[in-house]
Amino acid sequence: MAEESSTRALQALHMPERLLLGPGPSPVPARVLEALATPTVGHLDPAFLDVMNETMDGLRALFGTANPLTMALSGTGSAGMEALFVNLVEPGDRVLVGVNGLFGERMVDVARRTGAEVLAVEAPWGRIVEPDAVRRALQRNPGVRLVALVLAETSTGVRQPLEEIARIVHEHDALLGVDAVTALGGIPVEVDRVGIDACYAGTQKCLSVPPGLAPFTLGPRAEARLEARSRPVQSWYLDVTMIRRYWGRERFYHHTAPVNMLYALHEGVRLILEEGLPAVYRRHALVGAALQRGLEALGLELFAEPEHRLPELTTVRVPEGVDDLRLRSRLLETYGIEIGAGVGPTRGRVWRIGLMGHGARKRNVLTFLSALEACLAQEGYPVPRGAALEAAEAVLEGEAAEPPASRGA
Ligand SMILES: *Cc1c(COP(=O)(O)O)cnc(C)c1O
Repeated sequence: MAEESSTRALQALHMPERLLLGPGPSPVPARVLEALATPTVGHLDPAFLDVMNETMDGLRALFGTANPLTMALSGTGSAGMEALFVNLVEPGDRVLVGVNGLFGERMVDVARRTGAEVLAVEAPWGRIVEPDAVRRALQRNPGVRLVALVLAETSTGVRQPLEEIARIVHEHDALLGVDAVTALGGIPVEVDRVGIDACYAGTQKCLSVPPGLAPFTLGPRAEARLEARSRPVQSWYLDVTMIRRYWGRERFYHHTAPVNMLYALHEGVRLILEEGLPAVYRRHALVGAALQRGLEALGLELFAEPEHRLPELTTVRVPEGVDDLRLRSRLLETYGIEIGAGVGPTRGRVWRIGLMGHGARKRNVLTFLSALEACLAQEGYPVPRGAALEAAEAVLEGEAAEPPASRGA
């Protein structure tokens, strides 16, 4: 008699189909999933070299940079964050971080672990970090080497203006590091034009690729800083002085690249460039505005300050008397729609709705608003029936009223 195994057979995967409208991951298009299923080759195979080179070129287009050092690090967006600090900062360096949400807080934590002296310029959640506050902090604290900010704060839905801050940072001879995890592929990042010295992103937000890689770029000033280090980068795995030798001509083995994830990123970037960056940004801006007008038409209050709202991530206050968790569970179970909860000080107080990458489409706005309306009504919230769809459609049609050249009449 066969001994009964103490472990039971693993079940086949049965993943539900979800409409991912949270803070990431975002919906992954079929072409990207198919790319993932392409045969694995050796990570030094000549055929794979082409994939890497094209991906680097595509990422340069997305970042808006000519930086030779532009590649994808193995790890999620947080690996990009960690790489930025461990490569550009040495123990005792002064670092300034803008903190107006969860990811600014995380930057402070990551920077502190390098042994840097970290100063935070704080702003209330939902607001931007003011350029003047950065200027004053740099004047009060001479010798800051790196200033880091989040371009798209996914915890609050705030879009951080960078141009003036970039000028101030460079006047003080510091480097500007930017978190573009939720920005890349959703709003312009423009590394070279703005003067960003180091920038990273993630794959599962507006690139619509599963989580697992961190696009990363370093400009000439940051590279010079890297060369001038007095000691090796603390992290062996994220040491860009070694990783760049793999992505560069030498093809020097550092660690095995996640081959199939890079296929997926290649396809995700290809899709974006096929549509064209201006069209991609317009699509995000349009559906974001439609969602925000729709939410307001429901009588809900948006959380981020009006002049600085991201189109790809909207925060809205949970109305009085509505149970946050119960509503989100109903959205998921009844409609298959995932949205995000608030974090930190906004926990239980806001919802975070992502229209990112492949998810940023008109029909998702209308589907979501209809489902939300039904869920709010079940919570006893006085829903103005039909108002949200009407407001959203007005925005979406406003765009349609500008006829593209190819459409007759
Ligand atoms: C999602 C996110 C990160 C972290 O990325 P992971 O892929 O979760 O590691 C960092 N910064 C911002 C702004 C993000 O939205």
